[in-house]
Amino acid sequence: MPRTAYVNGQYVPHNDAFVHIEDRGYQFADGVYEVVPVLSGKLVDEERHLDRLEYSLSELSIPMPMSRRALQLVCAKVIERNRLTNGFVYMQVTRGVAPRDHKYPKNVKPALVVTAKQTKPQAAKILEEGVAVKSVPDIRWHRRDIKSISLLPNCMAKQAAVEEGAFEAWMVEGDGTVTEGSSTNAWIVTKDGVLVTRKANHDILNGITRLGVLDVAGDTGVKFEERPFTLEEAYEAREAFLTSSTNHITPITRIDERSVANGKPGSVTLNLREAYLNHITSA
Ligand code: PMP
Repeated sequence: MPRTAYVNGQYVPHNDAFVHIEDRGYQFADGVYEVVPVLSGKLVDEERHLDRLEYSLSELSIPMPMSRRALQLVCAKVIERNRLTNGFVYMQVTRGVAPRDHKYPKNVKPALVVTAKQTKPQAAKILEEGVAVKSVPDIRWHRRDIKSISLLPNCMAKQAAVEEGAFEAWMVEGDGTVTEGSSTNAWIVTKDGVLVTRKANHDILNGITRLGVLDVAGDTGVKFEERPFTLEEAYEAREAFLTSSTNHITPITRIDERSVANGKPGSVTLNLREAYLNHITSA
């Protein structure tokens, strides 16, 4: 079935969907985005994603392109027009179209694009075997809490990982601590069985999946700490995993050249994954 995209007020065939060459997203990466998972035709954690969108926009003084309610209706329409059951909705808001000039233009309407994509369920092999991550230096800016469309360092990190046969990159600060993956949050279970992920401040994107996993961690009785962990600590961890809207909870069984523990997905990871999936399907 041909895909339909929403672009600035119109529903158009995906292949004919264009933005202006002076869109500030195109020229300056002056915009933000959200990727919202869709399960059985429904957006998962919609309110949290819209809260984060509003937060990212307000940090950049970009107004919402329409009311939250109207945006929800556009998303629902895009899901319906694409007959989307399982996959995700992508929304991107840029500051709008204006002659190229670094300072923010006045009286410009933000540009909004919403698309949808059907995805296949995660391969069973990934769950059985887990994935590998490669560490790379974190060379990004200092406002990673803003879900900016400026993703070049993330693309470079992911490319470096893929070129070495890894699934994801783990970005590492100068002090040796892991911030997050190129498009995922990073987690370990320490030798003492404590779940650890970095605290959400300007250093990382506060993943919506991250928030959901922290919600269910309490219910499954796992002890957790929100603090930075070093790459060395991750090498010695009992378990490791990554989270994102498109990967849910994915076990990591290799970090650089080292196996994580016995090289098999760990029980805390798999229990959390099950609890998290129950949480989002029952919500
Ligand atoms: N960190 C980064 C840098 C990301 O791009 C993403 C995915 N957008 C995440 C973490 C995970 O966020 P979420 O769980 O909201 O998909």
